[in-house]
Amino acid sequence: MRRLKLILVFLLLAALALAAPRSRLKPGFNMFSKQQDVELGKEAATEISQQVTIIHDPELAGYLDRLGRKLAVQRDAGDHPYTFKLVHDQSINAFALPGGPTFVHTGLVLAAENEAELAGVMAHEISHVALRHGTNQVTKAMGFQILMGVVGGAVGDESLWRQLVQAGAGFGAGSILLKYSRDAERQADLLGAYIMAGAGYDPVEMARFFEKLQAGGGSRGPEFFSSHPKPGNRVKYVEDEIRGMRRPAYSLDNAEFLRFRDRVRALGDPPAKPKPPERSRAR
Ligand SMILES: [Zn+2]
Repeated sequence: MRRLKLILVFLLLAALALAAPRSRLKPGFNMFSKQQDVELGKEAATEISQQVTIIHDPELAGYLDRLGRKLAVQRDAGDHPYTFKLVHDQSINAFALPGGPTFVHTGLVLAAENEAELAGVMAHEISHVALRHGTNQVTKAMGFQILMGVVGGAVGDESLWRQLVQAGAGFGAGSILLKYSRDAERQADLLGAYIMAGAGYDPVEMARFFEKLQAGGGSRGPEFFSSHPKPGNRVKYVEDEIRGMRRPAYSLDNAEFLRFRDRVRALGDPPAKPKPPERSRAR
């Protein structure tokens, strides 16, 4: 009887130990409120939408939105107002703004071999939003005094986004808000692994896809890695993380993804983008 009790205690401790890594994944220090994340993300999304070509085709936009929602409803994604937009751009990239606006390039879709790979990048982006990495980076990068003025003082009718630009954050689509540290990358992979598993995808597909892109993309790799630096052996630490996870039968149905990818391929090259004068050297 005593032995049984010991075994039960041991099992309970083991279960707690397995649950522990997830609890470490919490947003870091942040001077912005969650509501300010949403406000900032909306403003930035409006500005970016004017500079890129968003695909409005209901079938294509609908597929990406459905896939995004499947991931965004997972508990680990938090309750942010996520949106998912397909950008006609052949570079291999995806990015998410504070509060949830998420953009996926057609080039990334074409590079993916199955739905799990695409879902993996999206789950990684969602995790940056959930962990509030964008405004955490701004908090770290800008002086306390400047931020107090912008976040606390909120002067006049200027939007939060405009005020940050004026305060000298040097904001641009590819700058501080979207450029992550290796630590943030690893966190987004780990939280993304839970989001993927919850939505029925094998989390290792995400790590493998990142490794594959990195290996095949020359010395610098695809555009994605200029703002998401390589955090180490992704496959290994994602495998370590999911070892204790309850593993459902992961979805292998790819038919809808393949139809989507064929239609994306048929779009061909995007129309020439007008060059915005102030943003041309942002990357
Ligand atoms: Zn990242």
